[in-house]
Amino acid sequence: MRHYGLGQWSDYVRGEAGDDEAELSRHLEAGCESCQRVVTSLREVASGASGERPPISAPASAETIKGIALYKEPVERQVMDLVWDSARAPWLLGEGSHDPGRQLHYANSEFVLNARVEGGAGTNASTLSGRLQSLFQVGVHDLEVRLVSERAVLDSGATGTLGEFELPLSEADPVELQIALTDARELIVTLGEE
Ligand SMILES: [Zn+2]
Repeated sequence: MRHYGLGQWSDYVRGEAGDDEAELSRHLEAGCESCQRVVTSLREVASGASGERPPISAPASAETIKGIALYKEPVERQVMDLVWDSARAPWLLGEGSHDPGRQLHYANSEFVLNARVEGGAGTNASTLSGRLQSLFQVGVHDLEVRLVSERAVLDSGATGTLGEFELPLSEADPVELQIALTDARELIVTLGEE
């Protein structure tokens, strides 16, 4: 499921989401608990600020703001290392061979991720495809995969039966790829490193 960022929910609560309003409402009606928590916290702050309720005291207000910043459950982030990048070894592709796209291999002590970026920079047809494998035969199907920027989740999907996934790279500046192993643990692949 695609989620929305704090900036979008902030606009929504202030009635400034414009054309996105219906889509955001549907997301809440679909029962997304993490986004609903953000909206509830933002509404508390908004109603305090507009004076509809007795002003909340300064410490309580600071607590509420802190609550928004930390609305996600604490998650253990396990960063994967880039172990091979075809852009650093273009000669291995062979002269005149079909360009299969940029291939990137990541690993940590438990998992290997083979990823591929197809479509050139500047085109809007790029995709990031990948396959996650466990070194210990742990199941890697049906895991949520997210492409995240500084502000928002750009796109998300789930791994297939063999740990494979594919996400469009049409939106700007993804910062990292997150693969949720459990609610409390995720694999992180930092993108955009040259
Ligand atoms: Zn959501």
